[in-house]
Amino acid sequence: MTSLPLSLNGFSPLDREEGTLEERAGALRDEVFGREVFVRGVIEVSNYCRQNCDYCGMRRDNRELRRFRLELESLRELVRHGLPGTITDLNLQTGEDPVGIREIVLPLIEILRHEMPRLGISVCLGTLDPKIYAELKQAGASYYIIKLETGNRDHYREIHAPGNFDQRLAAIRHLAETGWSVSSGFIVGLPGQTPEHIEETLELLGHLPLAGASVSPFIAGEQTPFARHASGNFELTINCLARLRLRNPSYIIPAVSALNMVHANGYVRALRAGANLATINLTPSTDRGDYLLYKRNRFIMHEQRVKDAIAEADCSISAVSLAETLKQKSCR
Ligand code: SAM
Repeated sequence: MTSLPLSLNGFSPLDREEGTLEERAGALRDEVFGREVFVRGVIEVSNYCRQNCDYCGMRRDNRELRRFRLELESLRELVRHGLPGTITDLNLQTGEDPVGIREIVLPLIEILRHEMPRLGISVCLGTLDPKIYAELKQAGASYYIIKLETGNRDHYREIHAPGNFDQRLAAIRHLAETGWSVSSGFIVGLPGQTPEHIEETLELLGHLPLAGASVSPFIAGEQTPFARHASGNFELTINCLARLRLRNPSYIIPAVSALNMVHANGYVRALRAGANLATINLTPSTDRGDYLLYKRNRFIMHEQRVKDAIAEADCSISAVSLAETLKQKSCR
């Protein structure tokens, strides 16, 4: 049994049942999904952003950041010749950039749908006009990632998370009602976060119409108002991930690369604690550094690292896409 501190900011990671919380969460994932992990690619298409989140380096007030939008033609080449064989799904991510969505993301999805009909398409593009959600869906995307960041309304306002809390909740509900599989999530260790906020967030994530959710540790972002704050506690983050799994057996829960920034074996620990999705970063190395979520030297999960982590966690790679799995589930 892993030895863990008995109390983490008031949370107890152990209880009276057999095994640690992480072991039980891993066993539940095995029961529901088996030991097969979905592997998706992510391309960070644009770092323009109209939001001003205190935790994110791409906030609009960061005037030192070189802004980029990848070109459609080079993206077309990348997906034609540069997609690793292990991936079944592709996630297109941007800052909140309606121009980049219209000019690049939408046409790219149309191309993918036509040229690679078996590839599942996820997007993580922010809170948008419902008309754009409909166009993205019509083009061929099916999985929308839109994180709450924090489940407490006042805290959400204090950290200047996108728009306001009610708009974010309304967006999640609208997306689910209009046929998207929706994934949300939160950041552990955000400045101003209390144990009560975490409880509230876990509770809310269990009640929203979601197909998945993530837990990431806060990483103090360069060129942000939170630059001098401490990063999120790894054990608390993994504890939240395990509890997310135990409360929501059917959720798709990613292992996020930021875990490796706060613990040498963070990614593998997440897979052992019930995560069932891994992501290979495919953003061209020339632009990756400027997709400044937090630090320029992010921990980049390339294909070999993802394969090694999955093997080390005694899992294997799913041959069926996330999109297909969720489609079949909704048809049952
Ligand atoms: N702009 C879109 C949105 O708001 O949904 C999507 C892209 S956003 C840059 C991607 C995610 O990065 C956010 O949802 C947030 O959880 C994460 N992120 C940003 N800054 C972070 C930080 N300092 N530490 C951990 N995660 C962070």
